[in-house]
Amino acid sequence: MTTRIVVLGGGYSGQPAARLAARAKDVSVTLVNERDLFVERVRLHQLAAGEELRERPLSDLLAGTGVQLVVDRVVTIDPEAKSVVLASGDTLSYDTLIYALGSRMGGQTVPGVAEHALTVATHEEAVLLRARITDGGVVTVVGGGLTGIEAATELAEQYPALKVRLVTDGVFGARLSRKGRQHLHRTFDQLGIELREQAAVREVRVDGVVLADGEHVGSDLVVWTIGFTVPRLATEAGLAVDEHGRLLVDDTGRSTSHPDVYGCGDAVAMHMSGGQELRMACATAMPVAQHAVRAILARRDGRPAKPFRFRYVNQCISLGRRDGLIQFVNRYDEPVEAVLTGRLAALYKETVVRSAFQVQRHPSFPTSF
Ligand SMILES: Cc1cc2nc3c(=O)[nH]c(=O)nc-3n(C[C@H](O)[C@H](O)[C@H](O)COP(=O)(O)OP(=O)(O)OC[C@H]3O[C@@H](n4cnc5c(N)ncnc54)[C@H](O)[C@@H]3O)c2cc1C
Repeated sequence: MTTRIVVLGGGYSGQPAARLAARAKDVSVTLVNERDLFVERVRLHQLAAGEELRERPLSDLLAGTGVQLVVDRVVTIDPEAKSVVLASGDTLSYDTLIYALGSRMGGQTVPGVAEHALTVATHEEAVLLRARITDGGVVTVVGGGLTGIEAATELAEQYPALKVRLVTDGVFGARLSRKGRQHLHRTFDQLGIELREQAAVREVRVDGVVLADGEHVGSDLVVWTIGFTVPRLATEAGLAVDEHGRLLVDDTGRSTSHPDVYGCGDAVAMHMSGGQELRMACATAMPVAQHAVRAILARRDGRPAKPFRFRYVNQCISLGRRDGLIQFVNRYDEPVEAVLTGRLAALYKETVVRSAFQVQRHPSFPTSF
């Protein structure tokens, strides 16, 4: 009998999951994505900074794989009827569902973000930012996480006459080693990026941001890089989710409430054996996708599904096209005093980004990078 597998989301985790599943015997695999495009999200700061990225239509990537692509937006999941309703009104029935809808910017409680800030979270938003950036004026990047650091450095490098400022509410680089922080500060100095630490933004206005102490920091553009949220579909469907709406899955990637539903990527909360939640990253999304598909097929064939095992290796941060920071970490993602910096690090990061794309073509490719 044919098993109908429907995959929701054709990003870093959903696309390889669909391809891998389609290699099995007696399955029909349908992948639903809202547009016919594989978005290299890890390069969206590059796109926003004006670089030309290669368009990668999902229909090209999936040609000859046996995966049926449906370009449509998922609006409802009915886990009791085992069906999915699409914006077009069409319905898809499944035996097994793979939930891989990713994340986006949203749910901001800071006034003015939705009205006045731009971001690099999705393709459309990066394109919008790209259209607004000019080589001059002032841009304020809010958020000292990896996305904020990558966006600020990319913009500063591509637009030397643009004054770039990064505002963060905590200590800059707090999750890096001493050497990592030192390199980051050096790079920011070299690129002329102004850093405002311990400065929480309480409002975004058309002409800049207002800090918690009331100071108005003027800016032509504000780029918001904090507060990623996930789609609400799993919550609305009554699937077990965590407090952020991420689908709760066990160590095989299976929903803790609905055994016919599996998940991978940013929209899913999976925990390591010690209880630590996996971070939202390609680095975790792709191995979980591979694992979930293997678990689905094992169970279908009457074999036991193995628990997911994962150890972190590094955090790869691009600092423009000519510099980077590879922060090595222990298996629990805690920084150790070993870093790679400069051009070699930029090359390393580029290799990792390319490898992540290779997984899209070769879904069983090793993903421990
Ligand atoms: C600027 C930036 C830089 C990053 N850099 C790194 C990095 O260096 N390293 C790293 O590991 N991670 C990085 N990340 C994070 C990484 O991109 C995500 O963790 C990864 O994309 C998650 O994969 P996913 O499959 O869960 O989601 P995605 O890749 O986002 O795919 C989700 C897909 O679902 C589709 N979708 C969503 N809702 C619907 C719907 N209702 N109907 C139909 N389709 C829908 C979306 O269009 C998308 O195609 C970065 C993210 C950003 C924004």
